[in-house]
Amino acid sequence: MSLDEITTRIDRAASAHGRDGASIRLIAVSKEQPADRVLPVLRAGHRLFGENRVQEAAGKWPDWRAEFGPLDVHLLGPLQSNKARAAMELFQAIHSLDRPKLAQTLARLAQDMGQCPDLFVQVNTGAEPQKAGILPDDADDFIAQCRALDLPVVGLMCIPPVDEDPAAHFDALAHMAARNGLASLSMGMSDDFETAIAHGATHVRVGSAIFGARR
Ligand SMILES: *Cc1c(COP(=O)(O)O)cnc(C)c1O
Repeated sequence: MSLDEITTRIDRAASAHGRDGASIRLIAVSKEQPADRVLPVLRAGHRLFGENRVQEAAGKWPDWRAEFGPLDVHLLGPLQSNKARAAMELFQAIHSLDRPKLAQTLARLAQDMGQCPDLFVQVNTGAEPQKAGILPDDADDFIAQCRALDLPVVGLMCIPPVDEDPAAHFDALAHMAARNGLASLSMGMSDDFETAIAHGATHVRVGSAIFGARR
C-alpha cells in the first residue's frame, strides 16, 4: 500500500472520531527493510521513521540524514542500558522506556549530554511475561519516578497481545495517559492503526502496510 493510501486511511479514521488527521503522526517503521523500499518513501518527502535496533539504525540513518537533511527517527524496540548513549545520539524519541535502571541511565546521560530525546513509557498492557514494558499496576509510580529524574516523558506506548482485541488495550493506555497528564499515545500498527486512532493514538507505527512484509 502506498504512503498516500495510509495517510488517507488515517485522515478518514480521524474524521470519523471528530479528530484532525494532521494531529496524528505516522511513523513509517523501516526496520529490516531494504534501502530500495525505504528510499521511495524518503523521496516522497516522508520524514518520520521507526527502528527497533540501535545498531541497525546506526548503519543507515546517518547516511540518509546527510542525503535528505533532518529526519526524525524513533526507537521502538527494547533498549539495553549499554546502548543508551548511542540511542540518545541517534533518535529523536525513544518509545521503550520500561524500567527504573534504564530511567536512571538516561537521566545520567541527559545531564552529561545536556539533551534528551522525547520519551514514551512502554506499558505491557497484557501483562505478558515475554513482553517488554512496565506492568500496568506499576505504571503510575514509574512515570512519577521518571518525572522526578527530570526525564522528558511525553506519552505512553503499548503493543497489545496478538490474540486479543486491541481496543481494550488502547483504551486502557489512553486512560492511564490521561490520569498522568500525558498527551502522547504511541499505539496502532499495520493491522490496527485505525482502531488505535479511534481510541486516541497520536503516533501510529506502521511498517509492513507501507513497505511490504519484512524479509
Ligand atoms: C515492527 C513494529 C511495528 C510495525 O509493525 P507492522 O505490523 O509491520 O506495522 C510497530 N511497532 C513496533 C514496536 C514494532 O516492533
